[in-house]
Amino acid sequence: MTPDERKAFKGQWLDQARRQDASHSERPGRQDAHPDLTDFSTLEGYRQISMMRSLASGAGVASPFFRCHDARAGAISQLQGRDVINFASYDYLGLAGDSRVIAATRHAIERYGTSVSASRIVAGERPFHQKLESALAQHYQSDDALVFVSGHATNVSTIAMLVGPRDLIVHDSLIHNSVLVGAKLSGATRMSFPHNDPDALDQLLRRHRQRFERVLVVIEGLYGMDGDTPDLTRFIAVKRHHQCWLMVDEAHSLGVLGATGKGLYQHCDVPAAEVDIWMGTLSKALASSGGYIAGCQPLIDTLRYLAPGFLYSVGLAPQLGAPAIRALELLEQEPWRVIALQHNAQRLLAGCRALGLETGHCQGHAIIPVILGDSAKATQLSHRLLEAGINVQPILYPAVPERSARLRFFVSSEHTHEQIDVTLQTLGGLMATSS
Ligand code: PMP
Repeated sequence: MTPDERKAFKGQWLDQARRQDASHSERPGRQDAHPDLTDFSTLEGYRQISMMRSLASGAGVASPFFRCHDARAGAISQLQGRDVINFASYDYLGLAGDSRVIAATRHAIERYGTSVSASRIVAGERPFHQKLESALAQHYQSDDALVFVSGHATNVSTIAMLVGPRDLIVHDSLIHNSVLVGAKLSGATRMSFPHNDPDALDQLLRRHRQRFERVLVVIEGLYGMDGDTPDLTRFIAVKRHHQCWLMVDEAHSLGVLGATGKGLYQHCDVPAAEVDIWMGTLSKALASSGGYIAGCQPLIDTLRYLAPGFLYSVGLAPQLGAPAIRALELLEQEPWRVIALQHNAQRLLAGCRALGLETGHCQGHAIIPVILGDSAKATQLSHRLLEAGINVQPILYPAVPERSARLRFFVSSEHTHEQIDVTLQTLGGLMATSS
């Protein structure tokens, strides 16, 4: 694409984005006297997708979304028959392809089949459910834990179960969508505080705490878009002072933070019991799919009997429980994986900074954003990197504000120094020719 074409592409992109913003307040039914309300193609979201597709294809850039991998997407993957260095998977410890994890999964399927075929409350438990939950409880030194079939559903169901219309949910401004959806479903009042700012949380609670019964504060262990961590000690002090529950989403921090990957509590040197609700996913470091909550017995019992996404949903399948159990064991037995991940992430971050790239507040723990501030440029750069054999996803408006459009690198313990250095060299070259 020439600079002029890129300018035109960017202009069209922004026009489209602004039109989409405006259309939120002017739904098609109100603008058009005779819309066909049964026609799915009149949905606002569909119009936006169609426009994005035609802009991308008009500019000769393939859509960066839903790229199809022909092999396991580890540090190396295969796209359209070609090997690429892959930074688009959050298999942080490289365990999704580990032969011992695969063997444990195979064994579980052979013994229990491929589904538990109903909710656990009616169809009953399998030993791997109990084994995984007690391993997670032990990890967090908590009374008990509960596993759900989806990480997203874990947050939605747990939050909607615990708080209601007389309560308040306060969350970090960059919190994951699953927390927002849970908050909406709960009927509680929702407020946010500026990213990673416990003083702002304290001020907010000073103003509003007394109007509500229960208050749930939600933060993440490692923020999935920016790669930075909260000061857990200070958040605990604030939640104690205001008598709130603190929930920490460890989706990206389990297996990543702390000397042996135990997560945020180890990173901040705080007893795990200081946090009321530990939440995490099985889909990142634990090489599976699903989510969990760990905490005290009354919390876990309440969720086990009443959380809709647990009670009215099928139990975790054998091929999801078994790899998570084995991955947790390997996390304990092979701390070198965590160290390798930490070195790799620091190497990539240092290299990006040396190239003069904007990496925001990133601290170099597995997630490295390269902020470009331009969705068109991020799409194009991702495309050019793929042509050069490097797979990295762009994060575009409206997922982030346009000024924060970026490439996001997920680093793994399996990446070699050479792969990271080649990536930096290629990125530096492309940035130099595109500016
Ligand atoms: N919480 C956070 C912070 C996440 O980033 C994600 C998804 N990556 C989820 C929850 C949902 O987890 P899952 O994809 O395993 O459903």
